[in-house]
Amino acid sequence: MRDLFAAELRANLRGEVLENEPLAGHTSLKVGGPADWFAIPADRDDLLGLLALATRTETPLLVVGGGYNLLVRDGGFRGLVISLVRLGKVECLAGSRIRVEAGLDNRELVRFCRQEELAGLEFLGMIPGTVGGALAVNAGAHGSSVMELVERLFTWCGGQMREWDGTQRTFGYRYHRLAEGEVIVAAELGLSPGDPRAIDQLLEVYREHRQASQRVGFPNAGSFFKNPAGTEAWRLIEAAGLRGARVGGAQVSEVHCNFLVNRGGATAGDFLELAGMIKQRVSAGSGIMLEEEVKIVGEDTGL
Ligand SMILES: Cc1cc2nc3c(=O)[nH]c(=O)nc-3n(C[C@H](O)[C@H](O)[C@H](O)COP(=O)(O)OP(=O)(O)OC[C@H]3O[C@@H](n4cnc5c(N)ncnc54)[C@H](O)[C@@H]3O)c2cc1C
Repeated sequence: MRDLFAAELRANLRGEVLENEPLAGHTSLKVGGPADWFAIPADRDDLLGLLALATRTETPLLVVGGGYNLLVRDGGFRGLVISLVRLGKVECLAGSRIRVEAGLDNRELVRFCRQEELAGLEFLGMIPGTVGGALAVNAGAHGSSVMELVERLFTWCGGQMREWDGTQRTFGYRYHRLAEGEVIVAAELGLSPGDPRAIDQLLEVYREHRQASQRVGFPNAGSFFKNPAGTEAWRLIEAAGLRGARVGGAQVSEVHCNFLVNRGGATAGDFLELAGMIKQRVSAGSGIMLEEEVKIVGEDTGL
């Protein structure tokens, strides 16, 4: 199957394919071993051909957006990693709605909405990554999250394209239930008419808030743990005495205790060990078991 997959991949993909591609270069934590194949489909049809091939050959699949919420283990990923960076179309529809492809950068989307005088997505302006990544984890900030705006979702699911009403999807705080191997291809979002000056003001407020609280200065993946009900993960980590705690090159940020940073030369193993230590110490001190917000994928090295 592997040989069949590799041969058909090279013969049919119009975009790019890289073999044994280190995933550290595709994640903001700057760790992670290689992917067997790393493909960048040229457009939607190219993506659908690739997904059909992966389904037919039962090739394990991982989509990477901007890699800002992703911890890839040191053994990398045995299978196909797909980047949707070339699927970046966005257009206005009637009634203050937009249709956007999953590979578009969040910040470009926010710029587009401002230009089209559409409000509602300002909270996404300081969340790094792609629209597909944001939808996959239900990214959010300042009391809003992206799945709340979804009217239609277009996904590859069970070997075919499917169209969903937003109300058919199950999601919550930093959570969106995706089926095994489901890939978000595009979405229609419902926004509202907005005044560009009011949009700019809100974007500026959010930008200042980030600068004050999150200037950590080293590679990171944003909040590493979800906030448990009724409290914030950083408070629990601080109370456990772990500000600045370090395993190898991975460290609890001195600036923001829920940001784990790469001080240079960290491995995924360092981050996993540090995360395990945090969970154990927080649980012992507070009785609360933290849950990772960062998605952990791939294989250990087996060493
Ligand atoms: C400095 C900083 C600040 C941050 N602040 C916030 C914040 O305020 N709020 C917040 O919610 N997050 C925040 N994050 C985390 C991150 O930016 C978001 O989770 C973002 O939505 C990740 O998008 P991405 O494209 O990088 O996804 P990735 O990290 O590439 O992927 C995340 C997950 O989604 C899956 N995925 C990606 N694309 C698709 C697709 N098309 N179909 C199916 N699955 C897919 C991946 O397989 C993976 O499981 C922050 C990160 C950083 C570094």
